[in-house]
Amino acid sequence: MTSWTPDLMSGRPAGEPGLLRNFVDGRFVADGKRFPKVSPVTGQTVFEVAEAGPDTVDAAVRAARRAMRGPWGRMDERERARMLNAIADELDRRFDDLVTAEVADTGKPISQARTLDVPRGAANFRAFAEIVATAPTESFVTGGRALNYAVRKPVGVVAVIVPWNLPLLLLTWKVAPALACGNAVIVKPSEETPASATLLAEVMAAVGVPDGVFNVVHGFGPGSAGEFLTTHPEVDAITFTGESATGSAIMRAAADGVKAVSFELGGKNAGLVFADADLDAAVEGSVRSSFTNGGQVCLCTERLYVQRPVFEEFTERLARRAAGQGFGWPSDPATGTMPLISHGHREKVLGYYDLARAEGATVLAGGDVPVFGDARDGGAYVRPTVLTGLGQDARTNREEIFGPVCHVAPFDDEDEAFALANDSVYGLAATVWTRDVGRAHRAGARLDAGIVWVNTWFLRDLRTPFGGVKASGIGREGGVHSLAFYSELTNVCVDLT
Ligand code: NAD
Repeated sequence: MTSWTPDLMSGRPAGEPGLLRNFVDGRFVADGKRFPKVSPVTGQTVFEVAEAGPDTVDAAVRAARRAMRGPWGRMDERERARMLNAIADELDRRFDDLVTAEVADTGKPISQARTLDVPRGAANFRAFAEIVATAPTESFVTGGRALNYAVRKPVGVVAVIVPWNLPLLLLTWKVAPALACGNAVIVKPSEETPASATLLAEVMAAVGVPDGVFNVVHGFGPGSAGEFLTTHPEVDAITFTGESATGSAIMRAAADGVKAVSFELGGKNAGLVFADADLDAAVEGSVRSSFTNGGQVCLCTERLYVQRPVFEEFTERLARRAAGQGFGWPSDPATGTMPLISHGHREKVLGYYDLARAEGATVLAGGDVPVFGDARDGGAYVRPTVLTGLGQDARTNREEIFGPVCHVAPFDDEDEAFALANDSVYGLAATVWTRDVGRAHRAGARLDAGIVWVNTWFLRDLRTPFGGVKASGIGREGGVHSLAFYSELTNVCVDLT
């Protein structure tokens, strides 16, 4: 078992040579190349990761195929539900290790890992244990002469490819329903966040999930484990969360095998603040929706539109709150901010800060890199940033930045607000701040987004549909919507005469 005694200052598990291995057919394996996992907090290497070459990926896919043809694929749903609950219990038991892994990989505040990321891992398994055990299927008696009923079966071998921003949360959001439906999975975590998926493999082994049902392959996208997986002929379905451009590449790879795809992609989410809103709640809610997780949540607000009578006051208060965001070490329970995931990503975000200035933006807060005078100067930090003064066509207002940044612009009436919010190639989430109940419902009906939050943000019920429209995704996850992707329905028609 991996020792995860934390040294959160450096992110290095103490006394650990730190090699994270692939998990194939119930065994940890490391062949071929290695790559370093670098701490976003200090820039130091945290551990080495074994990259899965084509042979390792092939072995994982074949193990998954064998496993799902065995008893696992035919197991009674209630029995699989019991297994999912056992996984959740083991995740609870390994809670501190998982917190350490998430913090070491991402530099996220320990308070957030403890209250959001890691608890949601266990919650995802418990939710789908209940959903699969209680989900109905259809049956019809046809004119008194035939009985039609649907039988739910696994899709087969499912590739699960996930990003780095909420590693365990997003991974388990897919693995839990996939296993609930009797599939076998090959997980490819992000190269930036290999640790919690590796620990999840230990959890699976500890509770007796059969060999081959859960596999982990580490590596990158093109020319690496990601591509080997998506082009493998024995993979039946691909579930992916990440950038829209990566989604396009995976869709092309999936076309040859006509594989089913489920995509949760990027966003350029709008927040609408109406003059009738509770302004305190709107300011605090917007601070959360723009800066949580370093702005690295697909659901974060990067475009804020504020009704003109409150525009000045709202913008001034938001900029003050952004400028006041302190930076602490991830291990300090009082810390609320975090670095970006990598120096490469910081270059991209700082490039957008420069672009915004070049496009004529006024920088009301942030726009640069904090200086610490300690090891964190080797990390990937940027300041939370509030911009204004740009038109709707500025690239800053059209492209996903995925950092702690938002642009604030005024509007006059509801029609204009809805039109501005909808003027994007993306359509993941929107947030509306208003006391007008009718307007709240009109927003739900008229905004092009998979999720519309009213007077809140990031509040989730795991039974509800989750996903995006336009370039933000294909399909919905959550509740029975996940079951629809991870299972095939066979209709059985029996003559009654
Ligand atoms: P990314 O698309 O660069 O990478 C995601 C995963 O895909 C990684 O594991 C990566 O190794 C792999 N990958 C990359 N290219 C691949 C290829 N050609 N074939 C197979 N696999 C490949 O995304 P990222 O930078 O890790 O994450 C940030 C993005 O994720 C943002 O766009 C964000 O909006 C999006 N996101 C969306 C949601 C959602 O629910 N809609 C949630 C979180 C993040």
